Amino acid sequence: MELYRLGISELKELLDKKEVSPKEVLDSLFKRIDAVEDKVKAFVTVTRDKAYEMAAKNTDGVLSGIPLAIKDNICTKGIRTTCSSKILENFIPPYESTVTSRLLEAGYVLVGKTNLDEFAMGSSTENSGFFPTRNPWDLERIPGGSSGGSAAAVAADECIGALGSDTGGSIRQPASLCGVVGLKPTYGRVSRYGLVAFASSLDQIGTITKSVKDAALLMNVISGHDPLDSTSAPVAAPDFTEVLSKDIKGIKIGVPKEYFIEGMDKEVESAVKDAIKTLESLGAIPVEVSLPHTGYAIATYYILATSEASSNLARYDGVKYGFRAEGKDLIDMYMQTRAKGFGSEVKRRIMLGTYALSAGYYEAYYKKAQQVRTLIKKDFEEAFKQVDIIATPTAPEAAFRFGEKTDDPLKMYLSDIFTISVNLAGVPGISVPCGFTSNNLPVGLQLIGKHFDEATILNVAHAYEQSTEWHRRKPEL
Ligand code: GLN
Repeated sequence: MELYRLGISELKELLDKKEVSPKEVLDSLFKRIDAVEDKVKAFVTVTRDKAYEMAAKNTDGVLSGIPLAIKDNICTKGIRTTCSSKILENFIPPYESTVTSRLLEAGYVLVGKTNLDEFAMGSSTENSGFFPTRNPWDLERIPGGSSGGSAAAVAADECIGALGSDTGGSIRQPASLCGVVGLKPTYGRVSRYGLVAFASSLDQIGTITKSVKDAALLMNVISGHDPLDSTSAPVAAPDFTEVLSKDIKGIKIGVPKEYFIEGMDKEVESAVKDAIKTLESLGAIPVEVSLPHTGYAIATYYILATSEASSNLARYDGVKYGFRAEGKDLIDMYMQTRAKGFGSEVKRRIMLGTYALSAGYYEAYYKKAQQVRTLIKKDFEEAFKQVDIIATPTAPEAAFRFGEKTDDPLKMYLSDIFTISVNLAGVPGISVPCGFTSNNLPVGLQLIGKHFDEATILNVAHAYEQSTEWHRRKPEL
């Protein structure tokens, strides 16, 4: 078997036993990248030289010699970090994000920075300011987004694992559409220091991997309190790999009736229902639950996320970061910089958010949305009184074609209908492969946990994965 095909834990075993060297691993991986990257276009920057440099430093860290890809909105010191935006096209961060600092300490090797929808705003990578990424399962289709580059890179075996960020579904939805595992941890579990802010109260860094065990391995490295992020929680993280072998007998799985609705894709629905049956056969107990405010989630998210984005993106003014356009005076320079530097979806969101926060509308929109957010969070608290985890589809349909939703933002926004409430409530969620449509496109099962209980969803996801073969299938490229 080619080394690039392996996941983190399998490769780690070979490296630890010195059966392969970090250089051999990279040789295999870059051969793969050279062969498929022109088709997939997962990377904004491939850091080949840097990777060999890092691999030469033999450390005894837990990820020593493991090549990973990092979403290009996570700052890497001295390495261009663009957010797939023209406004940051040549931005080289003077500091390292906390997650990548921790990966460095663990000895990881950076293969490259992956493509995304500009500033993580989108569900298909079509909003990238540079180029779209293609789904390795069907190059005519989108890989999902916004972490589409990371998900496609993992699915195409162009890296061994990856980090993404998830504000409304951006790890789980592309993971689902590319047939890999995506984990969005509890808000506050993983430091956001060095993650370029989109909507700070929702953003969370997480993992995109070839298996659930790999997600647990990466979580062990990146989780935990960070004094550099005031929203990082002072909660001790368990060893996430230890919980994986626990029996799932008796675990109560909530199945929310609002998530299985008229009009959803039939093949997705049946794959997810079958997955729940598989869990039942492993001893879990399905229980119908209700999350009554689900119908308001998208509207609530698009008021809160755009409001926060309008404020967070005010810093790109041609003075402090990145691109600067010429202007006849200072104000004109600001305006030209933002007009030319931002793409149309980013501008749309800045305008929406500015409107929702403005005097006279603030009470009607922003404040109301905050109140509904509390109700959505309470829905989960109520459901979790009855059940241990909640199971849903990750996305309402499999990967769609390029251009299918670009003319209608509202249609695009619906891609996250099953993931967004999880960010609004701040709870953790994982997507695992649970089947394929008749045209061979992956489908994902989402498992949602209680605050800071990633352990239980990892355990159940692992048990499911071990009893199915979906995660073993690879796209033909
Ligand atoms: N697709 C959603 C959006 O466009 C979520 C993006 C994300 O999670 N970063 O905002």
